[in-house]
Amino acid sequence: MVAQVNGEATTRGIGMTSARTRDRLVQRLSENGITNTAVLERIRSVPRHLFVDEALASRAYEDTALPIGQGQTISQPWVVAVMTQALLPPPGSSSAVPPLGKVLEVGTGCGYQTAVLSPFARQIFTIERLAGIQRAARTRLNDLGFGNIRYRHGDGFQGWPGQAPFDAILVAAAPAEVPAALLEQLAPGGRLVIPVGPSGQQDLLRVTRTPDGLQRELLSQVSFVPLVEGMG
Ligand code: SAH
Repeated sequence: MVAQVNGEATTRGIGMTSARTRDRLVQRLSENGITNTAVLERIRSVPRHLFVDEALASRAYEDTALPIGQGQTISQPWVVAVMTQALLPPPGSSSAVPPLGKVLEVGTGCGYQTAVLSPFARQIFTIERLAGIQRAARTRLNDLGFGNIRYRHGDGFQGWPGQAPFDAILVAAAPAEVPAALLEQLAPGGRLVIPVGPSGQQDLLRVTRTPDGLQRELLSQVSFVPLVEGMG
């Protein structure tokens, strides 16, 4: 069946991807600390149901993480929104379009966070250690028409030195400590958003490179899969 949902063609049924379902998700995020309206609109418009298995599509607009295979998960929408909001300059403070230049993402996963970030960045450089997962994400994002993304099968602990420095770095898996290479690759004024700590209870941190040095802020408690050293 080909249905017309939100003006966008989809091969899936109408109920689970309807405007009302997406509105409910956005409403929930705005009640839970997401104030940046551009981020909320982005969560509304990215078709999250196309990033998960067909069998899970009916749950795509619930505010939960879902399995994507190989023990990995698609991040919870609230977490994606918090991280995106934390990377962006405060609304009104910058007229640059897009607001971010070069962005490094560690942990491509299914590519949902990449898709949410895409219009806010001039270019996204995304690293994933599992080749199969990255191949699927690249195909999906290409099919959806995202053109400003470069992919690397590699170890995110190393960052992407050939493209540094980055205005923003987003890490979607949790190391025990902030990797030194990522701090080195942060541009002046740049922001790094990263979960840090043991499995199941991590601190989501924002580290900003200021003229006075690195400034750390605690954003929230979160639960991510671990950042694993080496390539899979
Ligand atoms: N951002 C994704 C979720 C990513 S889940 C989304 O939007 O849904 C975390 C991902 O990080 C997994 O795919 C995992 O394989 C990857 N990962 C873990 N350690 C890594 C490393 N050292 N380098 C690159 N990717 C890594």
